[in-house]
Amino acid sequence: PPTRMAGARSRAAARVAVFPLPFQGHITPMLQLAGALHARGLAITVLHTAFNAPDPARHPEFSFAAVPDAISDAAAATEDGSMDRALAMNAAVEAPALAESVRDALASMLRAGEQEEEKEPRLACLVIDATLTAVQEAAAGLGVPTLVLHTCSAACFRLFRSYDMLYDKGYLPAQESNLLLPVKELPPLQVRDLFDPSKLPSKEIGLKLLNLANETTARSSGAIINTFEALEAQELETVRGELAEKGIPIFPIGPLHKLTSVDSVGTSLLKQDSTCIQWLDTQESGSVLYVSFGSVVHITQDEFTEVACGLANSGKPFLWVVRRGLVLGVEKPELPEGFESAVKGRGKVIEWAPQQEVLAHSAIGGFWTHSGWNSTLESVYEGVPMLSRPNFGDQLVTARYVEDRWKIGILLEGVLEREKIKRAITMLMEEKEGMETRQRAKNLKEKMRMCLESSGSSQQAVDKLVDHILSF
Ligand code: UDP
Repeated sequence: PPTRMAGARSRAAARVAVFPLPFQGHITPMLQLAGALHARGLAITVLHTAFNAPDPARHPEFSFAAVPDAISDAAAATEDGSMDRALAMNAAVEAPALAESVRDALASMLRAGEQEEEKEPRLACLVIDATLTAVQEAAAGLGVPTLVLHTCSAACFRLFRSYDMLYDKGYLPAQESNLLLPVKELPPLQVRDLFDPSKLPSKEIGLKLLNLANETTARSSGAIINTFEALEAQELETVRGELAEKGIPIFPIGPLHKLTSVDSVGTSLLKQDSTCIQWLDTQESGSVLYVSFGSVVHITQDEFTEVACGLANSGKPFLWVVRRGLVLGVEKPELPEGFESAVKGRGKVIEWAPQQEVLAHSAIGGFWTHSGWNSTLESVYEGVPMLSRPNFGDQLVTARYVEDRWKIGILLEGVLEREKIKRAITMLMEEKEGMETRQRAKNLKEKMRMCLESSGSSQQAVDKLVDHILSF
């Protein structure tokens, strides 16, 4: 198709502006998508906040434009991990100066595209994170169409569209007595997997944030979801049907990290410690458990101690990411006394990993994850089975799918306790019980790889998306 050849043209056919929500799990897929569009011949401008700003020097192929925000203040205002994120997201969406700056930046791109027809490609559209309603309004005011990037799964997107039903049918607010009840309209979810806004300190903010993705999608010219057909066929069909009624196409384009040349060094906000790769080189094939809870999850000091002791007692080699700030209220957590001697070189603790490289390493045999969507896709791509410990929001949905739908991992539920952790690790990595799980992870990896071939569903979806953009 001509669009695939577009990269060879001397001048881009059009410019696409992108605006991610400024968190690692959102910035990464947006930059990856930008890379995929750039490779198909489109010029890219990345709009970004000062908070968690990407490094332009790492992406010479993109243009960058900064807009002001009020996120750091909001994030600093509270100690609770999930609320930090909720409030910061709210601040990102509502910062008064934000919409105005976005309008100015887009207006200047529009002018450049019109006045210097020969040099500057025209601005075709803005791709926004699903939460950025004010940014979308700013674009609409200038007649710039928006596409929405969903950085969670189709299952999660479908859940977010179902809250009216969940309240109507009495699943929510969740009661102690119905936590294990299957939500028969949204299999395989159970009531305990639903992100219940009434559990947050502010139900209003919770509900509002949940609804943002629906609002932005309803006003958009298309929805891009970081997933692939073979993984979520049913969920995609439901969402596709609902949006088709409104004339909004969907583009299942995933896993984005394998559809782009933008690498993780370029998207990572923290410096990756690559010394762990040499350490992995010394370990036996399939023997190491990789442990990471992503960029935003916090755990308590007690949980941290139980994780450390569980890993030490498991007897398995492990690579553990202890990010600064992981433990609530502690900048740099200390490992329990006796940890080092119990582990004796069998484990390595680092502050931030080159995660994709780690998961691709032959020494890795399992991934203890918080079930963030990017981490999950990265693990599926490498065929690594998971031990899931979801914390909030879409992580609960993903962990349920990993265990019950795809059956490529096991869920670690309830209070974190060292013996339980040790048992779960052994089951995932050694026992017969875990063997089928490990095998299914390998099978799903093959399915994912097929969608990335040139005739695969995700590659075709990128082609369709580029044609769609060029039609604006
Ligand atoms: N990541 C990384 N190094 C680490 C841990 C995580 O580079 O030590 C990356 C990981 O590869 C993924 C992202 O950070 O792309 C985390 O995104 P995810 O959606 O899994 O979780 P979040 O951080 O948004 O909760």
